[in-house]
Formats: sequence, structure tokens, C-alpha cells
Amino acid sequence: GIVNAGQLTVYQDIPTPLREGIEDVLFNRRADATERLLDLAKEYRGGGATDEIEDAAWRALPVNDRISHAMVHGIDAYIIEDTEEARRAAERPLHVIEGPLMAGMNIVGDLFGQGKMFLPQVVKSARVMKQAVAHLLPYIEAEKQALIDAGGDVRAKGKIVIATVKGDVHDIGKNIVTVVLQCNNYEVINMGVMVPSAQILDMAKREKADIIGLSGLITPSLEEMAHVAKEMQREGFTIPLLIGGATTSRVHTAVKIAPHYNGPVVWVPDASRAVGVCSNLLSQDLQAGYIQEIKNEYEKVRAQHKNKKGPAKLLSLEEARANAFKTDWTNYQPHQPQLIGVRTLNNYPLDKIVPFIDWTPFFQAWELAGRYPDILTDEVVGETASQLFRDAQTMLKKIVEQKWLGANAVIGLFPANAVGDDIEIYTDASRSKIAMVYHCLRQQDQKPGGKPNRCLADYIAPKDTGIADTIGLFAVGAGFGIDERIKAFEAVNDDYSAIVLKALADRLAEAFAEHMHMRVRREFWGYAKDETLTNEQLINEEYRGIRPAPGYPACPDHTEKGPLFATLNATENAGIVITESFAMVPTAAVSGFYFSHLESSFFAVGKIGKDQVEDYAKRKGWTLEEAERWLAPVLAYER
Ligand code: SAH
Repeated sequence: GIVNAGQLTVYQDIPTPLREGIEDVLFNRRADATERLLDLAKEYRGGGATDEIEDAAWRALPVNDRISHAMVHGIDAYIIEDTEEARRAAERPLHVIEGPLMAGMNIVGDLFGQGKMFLPQVVKSARVMKQAVAHLLPYIEAEKQALIDAGGDVRAKGKIVIATVKGDVHDIGKNIVTVVLQCNNYEVINMGVMVPSAQILDMAKREKADIIGLSGLITPSLEEMAHVAKEMQREGFTIPLLIGGATTSRVHTAVKIAPHYNGPVVWVPDASRAVGVCSNLLSQDLQAGYIQEIKNEYEKVRAQHKNKKGPAKLLSLEEARANAFKTDWTNYQPHQPQLIGVRTLNNYPLDKIVPFIDWTPFFQAWELAGRYPDILTDEVVGETASQLFRDAQTMLKKIVEQKWLGANAVIGLFPANAVGDDIEIYTDASRSKIAMVYHCLRQQDQKPGGKPNRCLADYIAPKDTGIADTIGLFAVGAGFGIDERIKAFEAVNDDYSAIVLKALADRLAEAFAEHMHMRVRREFWGYAKDETLTNEQLINEEYRGIRPAPGYPACPDHTEKGPLFATLNATENAGIVITESFAMVPTAAVSGFYFSHLESSFFAVGKIGKDQVEDYAKRKGWTLEEAERWLAPVLAYER
């Protein structure tokens, strides 16, 4: 048989007589198996999808069971009418929340805890819960005084103020944490993105918060989180501080944040841990032991970190430069681009971008591990991943057809030459006027087996060779107009769709970067006119050249986005702006440089020594202190 894995039902959900009838045929268990299955088939004739059969069955259950069923399966189609029915039957509207809704949420929580349910399903269940609660809220409000008199309020387990720190705009993970905590009966005040320290602390004081949670994605946010910890100490806070986000780590939390604050500081590696951490921190019985345990653990992490001699001894900057990546420039003939200067491509058709999507990170955003497309048939997460993928496809279709999102790009190709570890980028072919200097960092760790100490500047012909080399610049964004849609989803308590949309916008931005890079290679620069690669080959970076993005391992300094944006005039041309920490808005955006060198490939700069930091500070016109702040994540030494 040919099976569409995306349409598989859960085995246990197949009605028993039907399942047995099918198994009898499959395993040849009885002589009359065929006749029996044919008889059974009559019952399903003309009926179509099994969904309808399932539908009918659970719709006949008592109302409380229907509500639980809807919660567990994340079905919101009937939740308002069912909630209303339950409310009319209940003595008080609150009982509907405390009864069937909480019961459903507990089942969801348990299944999630046991690894039998995954984030997309939990967020969908939370959507059902929120819609039901929203329906009940007016009745509860009306009854509030009576409730207070009766002393029967649902008390939240704790109040948590959560925010993405100043300078950072990423919030998918944080929004998932918010939803997960809310459906576990925590009151969460989600302050959104780019929130300055003072505002977070004011809110925590005003709301008498039990916990503060900080989130961030880009590396400058790590410094900002340490700053918030210091401020909490200065203002005499004692409540726990949670740290989360993709670039955070146990080591960073223990070494760089916890020492600044006497209260508990806990790293939360992913959304699924948040509930456990909060309940430990707020439980009268477990609190003291848990906090001590974390303190001991982080003390150990700090000790290990101190004793670690580093991955390998660092070379001096001079030695590292002597071992630079070398190429034979004497026979090097760079391809002269078709286009010199800047080109803006706004309101780019989304249907041109969609085929370039790399789906694997979409599932990662939902904490589903595995590579696309195999993930769709994965034994553990396959069913959830398939459902999520179907929902994403449905929304993607609307995004494209109804133009929910705008996509803008600005690219530029310029004459360039390397001067030491810097790249001079010239305004035109006369090479007399510098548009910007791209400052690059060099690997300083000792390389085994004669491997070079690389720096992106090694891939551009040095000025003294007299070779007319070229570099590309780009900034693309695919999240224009997203805020309005997100607000509309949030207004109807549909966090699930809001998160799917944000994750899709991120995918479109990366896909747009991939698409534009391909067009640059084939047309605008034109050094690979005949290139024909599949999307899989593009994702595996099988093309000639690279597009390093500031903030990523080959070029960890985010501030290079400043001159990059200025040279492209990216804000005026394409409407993409950068924050004071060099995060891009819209969030769904990518920017960087194009290198065409045959042997160019990605690497990680890794940790660098003080000699390079001093040298870099001079080149950037920074004080040493400024350089150490921006380069904090890659310093090989303690400041
Ligand atoms: N296909 C993935 C790419 C993610 S990486 C996706 O769709 O999510 C995001 C961007 O970072 C890439 O487009 C590339 O511009 C850049 N990048 C990746 N690895 C890098 C490295 N080691 N150094 C610098 N930039 C890198």
C-alpha cells in the first residue's frame, strides 16, 4: 500500500472492531477475515474521513468530557458552545475553569511531562483553554465581589514578570514559555521585547512578582542580562532570576550572571523546563533545597570553568597572522560583477521565496528534534510534526495568497581589497573612496595538522596584489506587516497561530537570503551563471562562496551591521532598522556579506586573546573597554 504518513491516525484511536478487522486481514488471522472486513466496510461507505466518525463519537460525550477532549486534542471548533453549556450547568462560572478545563490541562501537562505530547500540541491546548477562559471572564468579573466574599478565588501559583532584554527582539521562545506557564496556572506578565532593565524591575516591584525571567537571542543580550542582575542586586531584590534564550548557557549563567546577584539565578535550557523550575522555586517545601542545589551546582561549574585551561593555548596575534589561510593570488582572476553599487528589490513576490525554505529550523523553533523531511515520519514526534507542518502549509498559503507579509531586499556589490585583517570596501571602480571598512577577527587557537588560522579577510585579494576584487553586502527582511497579524491572533487568544506565523516569517527571511544569494551568484555578480542546485544542495551550502552574517561564528561582532546598513542605506531602501544592540527589526531579517572565493568556507573565530582585542579596538576606534564589551562572548580571558 502507499501510505501518506502525514495522514496517519494514532493507532489506538482506530475504533477497536475496525482495528481488529484490519489486523485479521493483515496478519491472516482468520479464514473469514476478508468477509468480515468487507462487512465492516459497509459501515464506512460514503462516510469519507475517519475524522467524522471520531467527531460524532466525542460530541456525544457529557459536556465536561467534551471539554477535556477538546483540550487534549487542541480542538477549538466547539469550545465556546461547550463552555457556555458547562457554565449554565455549573453553580459558578469559576467551577468550569477549576473543573473540566483544569482537568484537561492537567492531562496535557502530564502527557507533556512524560514526553507523549509536544509543544505544538500544548500550545494548541492552551489556545482552547484561553478561548474558554475568555468566554467565562465576563461572568467571573460580574460575580467577582460574591467570589471574594465566598473566598473561593483561583489563586495563581505565582506571578512571573518575563521580558526580552533591551536591544533584543526575539520572542518566540519566551512566548512559548509564557503560554506553558499560564496553562499551569502561573500568572505571567509578558513585557514583550527590547525592555530596559529599569522597566523590568519597576514592573516586578509594582506587581509584587515572585520571579523575573529574562530572555534574549543575540550575544550582546548576554551582557545586558548580567547588567539586569547587577541592577537587581543594587535595588535590593531577592526574588529568583531566570535566564533563557538560544545563546544562554549553564556556564554563562553561573560564571557571568549569578555572581552579580545574591538571589537565586537559574538557567532554563528550554520551555519545557520552565514549569518544573518555577514550581521548585515557589514551593515552600522544596524551595530551600532546590536553591541550595543550584548554588552548589553553579559553584562547581565556576570552579571547573576556572580550572579549564581553555581548549588549547592561544597563539599570539602575530603568530596567528603568520599562519593565515593562503591562496595563490598571482594566478587569481576575480570575476567582475555585472552590477556595481546598490540594488533594492522591495515587495518581492513571496511565491518565489517559498521553495527556498529550510524546514528543519522550523521544527527546532517548536523544540521538535529531527531533520526535515524525515521528522514527519519520526517514531516519536512524527505525528506532531506532521500536524504542525500541515498547519504551517495552510497558513503559508494564506500568507502568500493574501499578502500577509512583505519582503524587501537590498544588495550591493563593491570593489574591495584586504588590508591586514580588514577589508576596504570602495564606493566605485576607481578605488579611491572608502565606503566602509569591514573589520574581521582571526582565529587564535593552535591549529593541529598545519591548518590555517582563518579570518574572513583572507578570502579577499590584498591591496598590494593590485587585484580588482569584489565583495557583496545584503540585507533582507520578510516580516513586514507581521505586527498587525500577530495582534489579530492574540486578540482572539490564538497564540498557536501567532507563533506559527512568527516562525514562518523567520523561515521566509532565511529563504529570501538563500534566494537572493543564488540570484547574486547567477546574475548580479554572475560568477556562477550555470549553477543549478536543488534546495537541499543550497541548504548544504554546496555553492561557490559564502554569506557570513555579523553575529555568527565567523564574524561574531554584531556592530559591523552598523556600517553594513549605512553602506546599503538599508533602512531607507528596504525599511530594515537596527537596535542599539544591533538586532534587526523586523525580527525576520538576515544581513551579511557575500564572498566569492572558491575556497571560502565557514569557520568559527573561537576565543581570542587580549593582543587581538587591543589591535581590534584600535582599528575600530574603540577604547579597550568598549571592545571587551562588544566582544565579551569571544574573550579568552577574564576582564
Ligand atoms: N539554512 C539555515 C541557515 C541559518 S544560518 C536556515 O534557514 O535557518 C543563518 C545565516 O547565518 C546564514 O544565512 C548565513 O548567512 C549565516 N551563517 C551561517 N553560519 C555562519 C558562520 N559560521 N559564520 C558567519 N555566518 C554564518
